[in-house]
Amino acid sequence: MTDARHAAFAAALRDVVSGRVAKDEALARWSTYRIGGPSTVLFPAGPEDVAAALMHCRDAGVPWFALGLGSNLLFPDEGLAALVIRMGKGLDAVTQDGDRWTFGAGLPAPTAAKRTASAGWGGVHKMVGVPGSVGGGIAMNAGCHGAEWRDTVESILVVGQDGHDRVITAADAGFAYRRSALGDVVVLATTVRLHPEAPSRLEAETEALYRWRRDGTPFNQPCCGSVFKNPVLPADWPADKPRTSGQFIEATGLKGLREGAAEVSPMHANYFINTGGATAADVRGLMRTVRTRVHDQWGATLEPEVKLIGADGAVAPL
Ligand SMILES: Cc1cc2nc3c(=O)[nH]c(=O)nc-3n(C[C@H](O)[C@H](O)[C@H](O)COP(=O)(O)OP(=O)(O)OC[C@H]3O[C@@H](n4cnc5c(N)ncnc54)[C@H](O)[C@@H]3O)c2cc1C
Repeated sequence: MTDARHAAFAAALRDVVSGRVAKDEALARWSTYRIGGPSTVLFPAGPEDVAAALMHCRDAGVPWFALGLGSNLLFPDEGLAALVIRMGKGLDAVTQDGDRWTFGAGLPAPTAAKRTASAGWGGVHKMVGVPGSVGGGIAMNAGCHGAEWRDTVESILVVGQDGHDRVITAADAGFAYRRSALGDVVVLATTVRLHPEAPSRLEAETEALYRWRRDGTPFNQPCCGSVFKNPVLPADWPADKPRTSGQFIEATGLKGLREGAAEVSPMHANYFINTGGATAADVRGLMRTVRTRVHDQWGATLEPEVKLIGADGAVAPL
């Protein structure tokens, strides 16, 4: 595998894109966990930079990684050999055509939620508390308070390694609980269908949901939100036993458990916090301990919701 951190790769990339190419950039700066080692990061100026970078990676035999706001990731301490393509400004346009809204992948989901709510369109307003980008929300089929991206998505504009754009319909996106199956593509934009509703009602709802987040989760500490997905339980699982991952972890008495500088949040047991200087190894170690202890006590298996990223940019097992 060729490494995107080689000086020659970054120099050649600069020749084919107009956005900034940062070498030896600490990924900790670009993940809400504040964890992750040195990598080469492209900040595309627009969709054509994404296409050019993907083709450049293909030709150079270098893996790539699409990064949104880094709110569902644990990057490795040693950084990535993959080129990180960070979707943000330049890829964050918003357009409206009747009930169809199109959001650039780099737009923060809370911005999409607030903008549509104040314009009197409901459907993505509940995403106000999901601190990721639109592209990351589509890739993860993120959701909260009973709403998911798949509820409103009509189509997704993507670009693949051949540098060509194509449109994927919602039916072909492979949406499931907290995942999609879009394949090796970068999401550039998505079009959703929303419904008209009184702005005052939508704004009151987004405000209430935001307060709920602020008061019930350590959302402003370095973390990735929920660490584990809720487990799939047998239909006859007793009503008096825990059901969600947070309930399992709390009922096992693990709130406040630490490994290095990583801690199971005393506020919400399925949030693991970087209390300052935590490494990816700390968080992984804590996850393994929690998973084992919950399984030993309840027989339930917790699967990671956070994406544990390996040096090649692929998702690695716990
Ligand atoms: C405090 C907190 C609360 C949270 N609450 C929730 C919640 O209630 N519900 C929920 O679902 N999630 C929640 N999350 C997790 C996270 O915010 C979501 O999964 C979010 O959608 C991730 O978006 P992102 O832009 O940060 O993606 P990233 O973390 O940057 O990436 C996540 C995955 O998406 C891929 N990806 C990102 N952008 C693109 C793109 N343009 N094209 C292709 N692939 C892409 C990445 O390669 C990676 O595999 C929370 C996180 C935090 C920190």
